[in-house]
Amino acid sequence: MAKVRIKNLTKKFGEVRAADNFSLDIDEGEFVALVGPSGCGKTTTLRCIAGFIDPDDGEIILNDRVISSKKFVLPPEQRNMAMVFQSYAVWPHKTVYKNISFGLELRKLPKSEVRDRVMRSLELTKLKGLENRYPNELSGGQQQRVALARGLVVEPDVLLLDEPLSNLDAILREEMRFDLREIQQKLKITSIYVTHDQTEAMVIADRIVVMNQGRIDQIGSAEDIYHSSKSRFVASFVGTTNLLKGMVQRKDESFVEVRTEKGMVLRVKKGEGNEFPDIDSDVLISVRPESIEIEPSRIEKAHNLYKGKVVQKTFLGSFYDYRIKVEKEVLRVQTSSHKHLEVDAEVWMYIDPGLCNYLKA
Ligand code: ATP
Repeated sequence: MAKVRIKNLTKKFGEVRAADNFSLDIDEGEFVALVGPSGCGKTTTLRCIAGFIDPDDGEIILNDRVISSKKFVLPPEQRNMAMVFQSYAVWPHKTVYKNISFGLELRKLPKSEVRDRVMRSLELTKLKGLENRYPNELSGGQQQRVALARGLVVEPDVLLLDEPLSNLDAILREEMRFDLREIQQKLKITSIYVTHDQTEAMVIADRIVVMNQGRIDQIGSAEDIYHSSKSRFVASFVGTTNLLKGMVQRKDESFVEVRTEKGMVLRVKKGEGNEFPDIDSDVLISVRPESIEIEPSRIEKAHNLYKGKVVQKTFLGSFYDYRIKVEKEVLRVQTSSHKHLEVDAEVWMYIDPGLCNYLKA
């Protein structure tokens, strides 16, 4: 197990700052996911940690040892880290067993130890019984498990994973997320996982690092970044949200009242994350679609109760996705898939002031 400390990491490609003053401390045994849109610098950051790319600036410290700085860069093979790639990168002419044992054979470990460790990895990755097959006799999911077993068998200090599930079909991908999490928790191996898929990050990671243009926008648990997003970027990247632009027209100790540009008046409870906005300041209110209640008849609430109209309805299996027009705003509302409301129907809508999150406009 290892602690990883990244201090002010910067990597430029011409004018592009792929990693821009990136700092992060990762605890022993922690599973961290780097998420963000394509091109935000996830892979570059991971490759700097692995030692495949030399950073322009900053330090990477493994336990108490500086493994990368302006003056010195430790080669990847001396870092005791393992990397799993999206493309599996298994050797086509070696059996599953040989793919996994190769790293141990290079280290000249006794044959019996190699065998024990390979068998343990096979068991952990649910590959037992397939050890004599060649990669072209395996499914994509099984090949990815071989890549994972090959990484785990060397007992690395840090496991690095770069979009390892992206080539798998949706069902397998969902299943593998839980398997990966389970394996990581069993082994307590410090792991850094790159993905552009926020749901994947939520399933897998203890902490999620949301990246935007080489920088960190927010770090937190899945709940933190979803319910207490600090910026417009995070609020809209992590899940779906309604963003209502407006101005604070009243304020007391616990609430602000915001008039949106499109005519809604919304009471918003003071939260913990962002600075409580002042009167007359412009704000952006984020309201998650599942935090909004809609009913065909009046709801008994003193505030944030609106009369609206259903303008669109989409059935998505586990929920309905409605678009409801209130004043000139159109809000997305997600309800149980048993709540039937017809398009054009009038509805009552309630937004809990405690479930609104204010952001800087
Ligand atoms: P994706 O999810 O698409 O893989 P990413 O978040 O992993 O994206 P990176 O691959 O780290 O992003 O790229 C970050 C930025 O650096 C991008 O603008 C990319 O075009 C640029 N970049 C990455 N590698 C190189 C390179 N070898 N030469 C030039 N530019 C590069």
